[in-house]
Amino acid sequence: MRLYTHPACLQHDPGPGHPESPARLRAVLDALDHDSFAALDRVEAPRASRLQLLRTHTLEHVARILEARPDENGLRLDEDTVMSPGSAEAALRAAGAVVAAVDAVMTGACERAFCAVRPPGHHATADTAMGFCLFNSVAVAAAHAIAEHRLKRVAIVDFDVHHGNGTQDIFAREPKVLYVSSHQAPLYPGTGDAIETGVGNIVNAPLPPDTRSQEFRQIWDGLLLPRLHDFRPQLVLISAGFDAHRLDPLAQLQLETEDYAWLTDRLMHLADAHAHGRLVSSLEGGYDLAALAAASAAHVRELMA
Ligand SMILES: [Zn+2]
Repeated sequence: MRLYTHPACLQHDPGPGHPESPARLRAVLDALDHDSFAALDRVEAPRASRLQLLRTHTLEHVARILEARPDENGLRLDEDTVMSPGSAEAALRAAGAVVAAVDAVMTGACERAFCAVRPPGHHATADTAMGFCLFNSVAVAAAHAIAEHRLKRVAIVDFDVHHGNGTQDIFAREPKVLYVSSHQAPLYPGTGDAIETGVGNIVNAPLPPDTRSQEFRQIWDGLLLPRLHDFRPQLVLISAGFDAHRLDPLAQLQLETEDYAWLTDRLMHLADAHAHGRLVSSLEGGYDLAALAAASAAHVRELMA
């Protein structure tokens, strides 16, 4: 089990008071800096290449991010998405981590990997940074798995409390990808209705505010996991946001830390059943530092089992 991260991911700073702060990644890394995680194989994330980014993003978008020269006041891309001088490098390492993790599981260097990176990615579309996201790291990695490893079925599982509109948009016409998401609705970004099905490769489970563990688990066991098993993925990618936790300040779902361990175990079984165990998870949201630390540690602890 590998852990991919890079110090550059701490240098992306959207400014004081912004919920997507460097302290988030510090909280995750501190939680994993414990004897019980000593067996993690820690790997420094490489940068994603332009070629890798261009499988998912437009030339204009990649150039806009990589050629931006934000000063210390930040460069505001939209209402919530701000670049600091370290942001482009952080985004390159975040996407590069997930790509490298895919290579590692595909070549058998490890069975599973977690990417402790930021900025998050699942709101970024082919041509637009939004919702704290610059490059869609998991989408870049899925496209890499299809192009480089010739996979025909890649599952992207998104349990972040927000809908991954960017990932859905990027793959809505790509039957080699199955995108499966549970998320709160109504909530930012407003997409993710159950009637959004792409070419039969998008499965959305919008959940009302105050949804608790039992209903959450029922939706996964009754709807989302069966669809994933029917797809028989050759690789399981996870957009691992921990903001559906009951303590999270940005949303109103009521998950407990144990729910993340429960779903992680189910997803490992999915990967074991169809994908020779190959599973790569990447950090998305999670804005209560204590809940983020506990839930991400529970997730990684399961992945190490
Ligand atoms: Zn989120």
